Amino acid sequence: MENNLGEAGQTTRLPSLLSKLGKLTAIRDTELLEQSLLKTLGPQLGVLNTSLYRTDEDFALARVIHYHRSKESDAQGASRIVERIEEVLNVHDLPPEISALTENVRLLARPCTRRLGNEMVIAYPLFGDGEICGYFVFQRDHEVTPAEDTIIRGVLEVFSNYYALLDVSLRDRLTGLFNRQALENSFDRLWTALGRPADYDEQGSGRRAAPTNRYWLAVIDIDHFKQINDAHGHMVGDEILLLAARLMCNTFRSSDLLYRYGGEEFVAIVSAEGDADARSIFERVRQTVEAHAFPRVDRLTISIGYCRANPDFLPQEVLSRADRSLYEAKRQGRNRVCEYEGLVRAGVFREIAYGDSELF
Ligand code: GH3
Ligand code: MG
Ligand code: MG
Repeated sequence: MENNLGEAGQTTRLPSLLSKLGKLTAIRDTELLEQSLLKTLGPQLGVLNTSLYRTDEDFALARVIHYHRSKESDAQGASRIVERIEEVLNVHDLPPEISALTENVRLLARPCTRRLGNEMVIAYPLFGDGEICGYFVFQRDHEVTPAEDTIIRGVLEVFSNYYALLDVSLRDRLTGLFNRQALENSFDRLWTALGRPADYDEQGSGRRAAPTNRYWLAVIDIDHFKQINDAHGHMVGDEILLLAARLMCNTFRSSDLLYRYGGEEFVAIVSAEGDADARSIFERVRQTVEAHAFPRVDRLTISIGYCRANPDFLPQEVLSRADRSLYEAKRQGRNRVCEYEGLVRAGVFREIAYGDSELF
């Protein structure tokens, strides 16, 4: 058990904990912050494996991050991460000892422990907006001491408060969707994940099969939105914008990502097996908006340009291709869906080389 924090060790460990908390709050990205939490608490508790479970509002899905440190250290004395696994699971698919334990934590709103062979599995609640939104879980052969309990609760509180602040800065205030900053922050990580085959094995040889190209990126823009503002005022415009965002959000699947990219412009990233599937997803969104009876206006439509999220291209390049396709959808009369490769095949525009991009 390394670095185990006995009562006597508390004062000597505190400076390192404080400097780690400092590093934690210097991070500007929610996912990095989560990783950093696990990295901070593992050594404090003398455990190599720590996990974070983050649940959705209905406690149906859980995003899980398992963080495993190696016993060996690198030249700087920091332990190497040997494994970091992130997965999204249906709550029913969690291991039974975890789901029983976290259910107790949820019902009691306080930490709980469960014996597993010679070890204990220990789970602490994570709070967001006063509600339980996840769990911090680790396993070891003895109970948490009162001093450790104080430290875990303190670190989790700093983490949750800071997470909430960061989350607010990455969300658009009107619609609650992630904003352009959030998309740009996560582009690189997102792209790495897109290029990874579904059965990619982080622990295995590290060999990467050919990317599966199963993701698609769309730029969505409300048609003639300026006219709505001009005719009914900005307040009504805001209300309609919010309704359109909610409608789109409900029409996409929960695994799809939707961002408010700018004023009345949105970016969506969805998974689909092929062009026909992708087109039908975006067509469904377009039709849902067209069919909806909005207040004040007779009809509201959107135009969509989309493109395969090919991980071999830079994300900005893919965004630029989707944006050019959107421009073409507008040019062809709006309220339609255009796909980049189809437009290239039809000779509408030549395949652009990176550098021709006008978006950035
Ligand atoms: P197009 O079909 O070519 O997209 O026409 P458009 O009028 O939608 O496009 P344009 O880009 O000329 O105008 C977008 C308008 O969206 C201008 C701006 O007033 C409005 N807008 C952008 N953000 C907001 C917002 O947050 N609230 C409201 N009410 N209006 C917004
Ligand atoms: Mg518009
Ligand atoms: Mg626009």
